[in-house]
Amino acid sequence: SDEYRIEEGKRSLIHDPVEGDNTKIMLVRARGSHVWDDKGNRYLDCTSQAWSNNLGANDPRVVEAAIAQLREITHARPNFNTRPLLTLTSKLREISPGDLNRIGYALHGSLAVEMAMKLAFKNRPGAQNLIVLQDAYHGRSITTMAASWPHPNNPFLPISPRFTRVPHPDPYRPRLGLDPETDVQLCLSLLEDAIDRGVDGGVAAIMMEPIMGNGGHIVLPHSYLKGVREICDRRGILLIWDEIQSCFGRTGKMFAADFYGIVPDIMTFGKGIGGGFPLAGIFASDKLQKFDSGEDALTFGSFPVAMAAAVATVDAIIGDGLCEKAHALGEYATGRLHEMAGRRKLIGDVRGPGLFVSIELVKDRDSKEPARAAAAEVYRRGVDRGVLFGESRYAGLGNLIKVKPPLDCSMEDMAHALDVLDEVLGSIEA
Ligand code: PMP
Repeated sequence: SDEYRIEEGKRSLIHDPVEGDNTKIMLVRARGSHVWDDKGNRYLDCTSQAWSNNLGANDPRVVEAAIAQLREITHARPNFNTRPLLTLTSKLREISPGDLNRIGYALHGSLAVEMAMKLAFKNRPGAQNLIVLQDAYHGRSITTMAASWPHPNNPFLPISPRFTRVPHPDPYRPRLGLDPETDVQLCLSLLEDAIDRGVDGGVAAIMMEPIMGNGGHIVLPHSYLKGVREICDRRGILLIWDEIQSCFGRTGKMFAADFYGIVPDIMTFGKGIGGGFPLAGIFASDKLQKFDSGEDALTFGSFPVAMAAAVATVDAIIGDGLCEKAHALGEYATGRLHEMAGRRKLIGDVRGPGLFVSIELVKDRDSKEPARAAAAEVYRRGVDRGVLFGESRYAGLGNLIKVKPPLDCSMEDMAHALDVLDEVLGSIEA
């Protein structure tokens, strides 16, 4: 359409998210599912800016709430209450899964994960081990990087604290060619072995993303997550779910905990809650002992402007029925991607749930060899056609194309993104 002003081939993209250079797209404006660059080009944003704009960008309700709060009080130390802090906390308590009624805040996801780990150690005095999954991603602070699988840009692993890494089941690539359920049982028994090996007072917690994002969009099977919950209960170990990518409607349910019907002891949230403002935190079980004063005191640990934005965001996610919308739009997207996979042999697998959508590109469906160059090319050609697909370079095997627009993306825009993807895959296969 006229709105997408980029002519094919005109804008050759050199977008390097790591090194950074002045050829990066300069974003100057965002509304809903779209962003604009300084040349007036409009892009359909299937990245939601790191899957954070669950509510479309610059929603007027969020902007107004933030401005109103800015006029009143911008900053308050966490040992004072503010109105948005109290309002947000009571709203989150209403929607939190199970007994996760205690809430702590941080300004970004990595710090929320730090808080979750710290609370686990506080509640299991003497234990000095945490179990994490291979391929995990938990953040960019030193400790959360150490808890993460060594991505190409993680040189900090050697200074890892005591993290024991265990394998996870992978429905698309079950280990040793096992059937998926045997893979689950094997991973559960390897987890029990790791607990038995726990030294120095044992294992405080097992931490995992129920749907592993940066590790390659691996949807952990229900039977595995149920088995882990049972092991944690039996062995007196806390279960931490990192829901920073899966929270606030992305899966078609408010939380992945609702999607799976399983409640962890501590659960992180981030990204989607702030309506574009930085905010993250944890939900913790009523059963757990709280931090004592000073044990988790961050200067900007409760930022009233982000909290006011979050109140408006959560109200909109509930009021606009965005979980249901994400479910319906996701069903449409994965349905069309399955249909596309019948024609486009590059597509090895289609993943959901909800608007947690991606495809894996493979050179060959039997060997499942990742088609990395093709994925990079899809991204580039998408940009030339005015659609930003999720970057693939550091996610999993580097061959994922993520289609994760805001949850209130219109059906027409989703259809357009999929038409472009289909066309681009066709042009690469040709
Ligand atoms: N955990 C998970 C599962 C994430 O996906 C991320 C961000 N990609 C983080 C933690 C870290 O969040 P932040 O970048 O806000 O620190």
